[in-house]
Amino acid sequence: METTLSNGLKITKASSSRINEVDFENINFGKIFTDHMFACHYSDGKWQQPEIVPYGPIQLDPSARVFHYGQAVFEGMKAYKDANGDTFLFRPDENFYRINKSAERLAMPDFPKEYFDAGLEELLKLDNKWIKPGMGNSLYIRPFVIATEASVMASESNAYTFYIICSPAQSYYGGEVDVLIADFFSRSASGGIGYAKAAGNYAAQFYPTNLAKEKGYDQIIWTDSSSHKYVEEAGTMNIFFRINDTLLTAPISERILDGITRKSILDLAKKENFKIDVRNIEVAEIIEAAENGSLKEVFGAGTAAVISVIKGIGFKDKHFKVPVLADGYAQHFKKSLTDIQYNLSEDPFNWRVKI
Ligand SMILES: *Cc1c(COP(=O)(O)O)cnc(C)c1O
Repeated sequence: METTLSNGLKITKASSSRINEVDFENINFGKIFTDHMFACHYSDGKWQQPEIVPYGPIQLDPSARVFHYGQAVFEGMKAYKDANGDTFLFRPDENFYRINKSAERLAMPDFPKEYFDAGLEELLKLDNKWIKPGMGNSLYIRPFVIATEASVMASESNAYTFYIICSPAQSYYGGEVDVLIADFFSRSASGGIGYAKAAGNYAAQFYPTNLAKEKGYDQIIWTDSSSHKYVEEAGTMNIFFRINDTLLTAPISERILDGITRKSILDLAKKENFKIDVRNIEVAEIIEAAENGSLKEVFGAGTAAVISVIKGIGFKDKHFKVPVLADGYAQHFKKSLTDIQYNLSEDPFNWRVKI
């Protein structure tokens, strides 16, 4: 059955729902998807009619440029449900602006905001039952754009598709992690695509991360590509350090992804008068702080886990333990953020958007 809404969005509903096949108590993150997806094709120099269709495989020519030249960008965001059954997004405009910023860097066309807003809203209404209430439950939303033009010519594509797919998620608690400071490999370089959420940035991370895993680490702390003297990110998260009572993080640059969790933590910290220092952070000063006991906490920040506590840091052949505090800054900011996301507290910055 097809309908076209007044905003031009065409909807084809799935003939039946798969929701009863899902064990919501035991969700394997990122493997299950809801009944519908959003798709909008770009051709002849413009975005065509946006659609919502049943979730399922897509057909692409084997020469589609995304397979050969990696022209692909994505986003990661979440929808949350409160005890009354109301659904909320957290700063969705930030994800919209960022996917277009990423797309621009990969020579892909700008996506219209009206299509994104309408598509996301309708998708979340259609598949609303897939969003379970309760702290930790959420719907992970993955917008992405791929180059679909059939051609192995090495230049940007003339055809693209913008998709949004959704996957139910449970509270993601991987335990505290041990991270190795990069002294050879890099995630991104000056003048490169590090600030973009580009698929290739992830592909480039897997191999060095596997080498770190062989040494017993969970993730890598990325450092600047030219000198490896400055700390930049932790795995696929932004990184925070607490030295004595000061919260430190590196400034956003062309090599660092401008995380929404990172900037939300900084806004909360400012409002609550924490001591904050946003500046280039030397590996040497972190090692020194770990040795003299002034390094009180280290954590990563990103949408998937909100905050991931770091319990140890490796540098060259040395390992340093980092305290894991039951009532530290990490727990404090995690609670403040999730309380806002689940509509359990005031929202002084108007970050919540009700669907
Ligand atoms: C997505 C991502 C982050 C976190 O961004 P959020 O907006 O907080 O989810 C941090 N670093 C990298 C490299 C990322 O890809």
